[in-house]
Amino acid sequence: MSEAEMPPRMKIGEGRISGAVSIVFGAIALGGVLCFHFPEVLTTPEFRAQYDVGVLRGTLAGCLLVTLACALRSLMVNPSKRAGLIGGGLAIAALLMGGPSVEVDAVGDSRFYLSVDWLLLDLIAMALIFVPLELFFPKRANQTRFHPEWRTDLAYFVMAHLLVQGVAAMSQRPVRLAFHGLAEDLDMVRAWIAGLPFALQVFLALLSTDLFQYGLHRLYHKAPFLWRFHAVHHSTRSMDWLAGSRQHLVDVIGTRIFVYLPLFVLGFSPGVFYAYVAIVATQAVLNHTNTRLRYGPLEWLLVSPRIHHWHHAHDPAAYNKNFCVHFSWIDRLFGTFYAPGEAWPERTGLDDAAFPRGFLAQQIDPFVRDPLKGAPAGPPSDR
Ligand SMILES: [Zn+2]
Ligand SMILES: [Zn+2]
Repeated sequence: MSEAEMPPRMKIGEGRISGAVSIVFGAIALGGVLCFHFPEVLTTPEFRAQYDVGVLRGTLAGCLLVTLACALRSLMVNPSKRAGLIGGGLAIAALLMGGPSVEVDAVGDSRFYLSVDWLLLDLIAMALIFVPLELFFPKRANQTRFHPEWRTDLAYFVMAHLLVQGVAAMSQRPVRLAFHGLAEDLDMVRAWIAGLPFALQVFLALLSTDLFQYGLHRLYHKAPFLWRFHAVHHSTRSMDWLAGSRQHLVDVIGTRIFVYLPLFVLGFSPGVFYAYVAIVATQAVLNHTNTRLRYGPLEWLLVSPRIHHWHHAHDPAAYNKNFCVHFSWIDRLFGTFYAPGEAWPERTGLDDAAFPRGFLAQQIDPFVRDPLKGAPAGPPSDR
């Protein structure tokens, strides 16, 4: 979507921004209180022992204050009272269920859980880092955070976090089953890696996963049936910190299998694994942000937002380029690098493809139809 085609930006003073903020923070506050009440099904077992309940209560109180202030503001200035009432209602529900003084209910045993705690904490952390970045260093100053696609992207962000347990199991188990023999054969390599300094191990983890991810990502673009699923990621027209979350579950599970393979076979320790997860999670968000942040000469080595925006460009010269997440020199090595001069792509997204709106419809769609069928852009493999 070109800047001229962008819907009018929500203006400060209309009460619509405060209404949306009150709903998001109200949902975070209510979700937080529910985590205190039902920890065994709504929190991640590995995280529970690490929590400082005082800090969590303080965060909850902060979210409730933001919700109530924004809901009040929206009710006062926005002729439509819907958003303010929803935000205020969520805050009142959270307060009625205990608010910031909520007690932790006894943790029972549950085989299945949803990582609501991970969703809420990552949403707060990512919003705190990337919303100011996009606010003060925007690439498209014209693009509002509340563009027509933000609800769909938020739904992807929510589902990716809630399903983290299922996706991890579906991607890690087959790799362990299929490759445990190879991992044992590589005992000497594993021992050598384990003896390296921590930072070097993290570098090797990033390098090996980026190479595997590169191969699969190229295949996603090449094979028409796989492209159907990966095209969902390319369907977003408004690049911002939430846009990177838009990935079909088939795309996500395939990628996780490919990146877990070298991590498992090379036997990286849990410490290296979690450092890798933290870096890739941040980098995946950063690559899509609506920010003009530039890396200068470092772009020879590392993927910057500008380089990944070219991957999403609506420009035939940039199709099938810039597949890497971390290291731009891998793309240079394989002849798939494209980021001319200092330029940014004019437009991003797939205007010539038809995608349904909403998370669930986009999950079902690639199984039943080719989104590019009849599109003027030609066969998917041209991309
Ligand atoms: Zn792609
Ligand atoms: Zn992307």
